[in-house]
Amino acid sequence: MRMIFNNPFRAEGKWFKGNLHTHSLNSDGHRSVEQLVTRYKDTGYDFLSITDHGKLTDTRKLSTPSFLLLPGEEICVGSSEGGRLIHIVGINIQGQIPVNDLDKEGDPQIVIDLIRELGGVAVVAHPYWSGLNLNDVKGLKGYLGVEVYNSTCDFAINRGLSNVHWDNLLVSGKRIYGFAVDDAHNMKRKYLPDDSCCAWINVKAESLTGDDIMNSIQKGLYYSSNGPEIKDIEIKQDQIKVSTSPVRTISFVSNGGLGQKNTSETGYLDEAVYSLKGREIYVRIEASDQKGLTAWSNPVFLEP
Ligand SMILES: [Zn+2]
Ligand SMILES: [Zn+2]
Repeated sequence: MRMIFNNPFRAEGKWFKGNLHTHSLNSDGHRSVEQLVTRYKDTGYDFLSITDHGKLTDTRKLSTPSFLLLPGEEICVGSSEGGRLIHIVGINIQGQIPVNDLDKEGDPQIVIDLIRELGGVAVVAHPYWSGLNLNDVKGLKGYLGVEVYNSTCDFAINRGLSNVHWDNLLVSGKRIYGFAVDDAHNMKRKYLPDDSCCAWINVKAESLTGDDIMNSIQKGLYYSSNGPEIKDIEIKQDQIKVSTSPVRTISFVSNGGLGQKNTSETGYLDEAVYSLKGREIYVRIEASDQKGLTAWSNPVFLEP
């Protein structure tokens, strides 16, 4: 089988950690842009996108050689089969997306197209939180991926994980990536953890510039996590081998009853190998630790 995978572990460059979905006081977030930048920088992040609802927050002046701000915006339009708005995040847009936010008559495809015209990439936000089904998203074209994990959707209502939505789209033939993001709002209530600096992508890029980071993201040269580390992915002949930080489970998730989950019941795992059976159209890796925190690779796509 032919494997199609831009392997970040075989690409030149350095690793850069970032969060692509954040709200500031300019929409419904509870931290200023400056507070967010300080917090993410002090927590070891290298880049951040502030994606306020319906407006482009100007963060250009805050970029430094060691901390990159990518201009972003979130637009909620249209109506799913369940009657909910569809949230689309645009990253690295060179201007505000010229549509009305919260427009039930709006078309998410137009939003995606406009994001691309503005030089950005579009991501379908938190499908599980939005209650989206496959029909709601399978007709959309030109977006780079879906949020496989969203911290605030997890902490607020336990609908942060959209791995099933991602898999349904992959099984339908879409070649899309997954993104772990915070969607940080910093709302306050009892038993609601701070939703900033919890989930991220680790990008392999030549340097910490907007062009290099976006170039790598568009090629899928990154992995997502809210805890564990993926240390290496090796692809040879019909095998996929992964090394990770110590975890409880390493899964190879695929289509049609294929794939494999490995669980250490008493100790930990830090590597696993999957041998292709020949009918996979994709295989992606998930590694989860004892606390249930997870790292997600992008899919390896397969052709006969
Ligand atoms: Zn949203
Ligand atoms: Zn959001």
